Amino acid sequence: MPEPGAGELIAGIRSGDRRALARAITLVESSRADHRQQATEVLEALLPATGGSMRVGISGAPGVGKSTFIEALGLYVAEAGHRVAVLAVDPSSARTGGSILGDKTRMAELSRHERAFIRPSPGGTQLGGVARRTREAMLLCEAFGFDVVIVETIGVGQSEVAVADMVDLFLLLVAPGGGDELQGIKRGIMELADLVVVNKADGDLAAAAGRTAADYANALHLVRPRWTAWTPQSVSCSALLQTGIAEVWTEIERFAEAVGASGEDTAHRARQSVAWMWSEVQDTLLDRLRDDPDVGALVAPLEADVAAGRVTPTVAARTLLDAFGT
Ligand code: GDP
Repeated sequence: MPEPGAGELIAGIRSGDRRALARAITLVESSRADHRQQATEVLEALLPATGGSMRVGISGAPGVGKSTFIEALGLYVAEAGHRVAVLAVDPSSARTGGSILGDKTRMAELSRHERAFIRPSPGGTQLGGVARRTREAMLLCEAFGFDVVIVETIGVGQSEVAVADMVDLFLLLVAPGGGDELQGIKRGIMELADLVVVNKADGDLAAAAGRTAADYANALHLVRPRWTAWTPQSVSCSALLQTGIAEVWTEIERFAEAVGASGEDTAHRARQSVAWMWSEVQDTLLDRLRDDPDVGALVAPLEADVAAGRVTPTVAARTLLDAFGT
């Protein structure tokens, strides 16, 4: 079967063909030069149709109930009439052999919903590459007509920052626990959170969940606010019993209204776009530099010289850059 061309994919996405969407995402995930070229064509044509979704990043340590929660929230918003896409950023997936969304049994009910779309994390070890592809997949989902895009990531490493850089609201999902757990959440991640949701507020854990939510509310007051119109909130819910999910969505809507009214949403996205441009410049320059034959011939001897202390890293870097493009 011949691969569909860019024009076919563009038309397919515009007409609501899910297969075209899935194929276009596969295209943006590919690192083959001809695929990148086609992907760029598709993205450029669809750009005017992008930007219309509420972009929500969701992070949490393994086991806090992310997939249960995203399924509950996704079903809730889909039932409310929204169209919801779930993407993932999981740079570790290549190492562990399976992505956080790769397991078919995760979010089984949501994946069958007619107004939902779930896409596993693209493979890749480089966070930068995975983040870029997820960002582009998000644009494709918006052009397709999804008005809520959820980007999931696991609560380790730099992936939270990458996700926070591509969404409007960053939601941190945590489990009930005492002060020790609160300490365990890295300060940097707290600073990214617009909404903390304490999951598993059911059965024996219900009371602890309430206390944990209060602890987070206090802690959130101490971090530097990211928005003038929004103070980070904390709420509790049970993804398992599907209680408190409506309240979580209400908070997300309140956030959208507040930052929309203050104009901060537009400014935030503008900053993200400019930052994205520079990270593209950086990635592309590095790729070109590494592919340059003149540079290539110098890399191994210079690395050896730097490692042995015969040449300083600064001088070696300058030598490589001088060789580039001459
Ligand atoms: P993930 O690793 O963060 O994606 O977490 P999962 O969604 O796979 O859930 C991990 C475990 O927590 C599973 O055994 C779930 O059934 C359980 N779990 C998830 N949400 C809740 C909840 O709201 N209450 C309770 N009691 N258990 C939950």
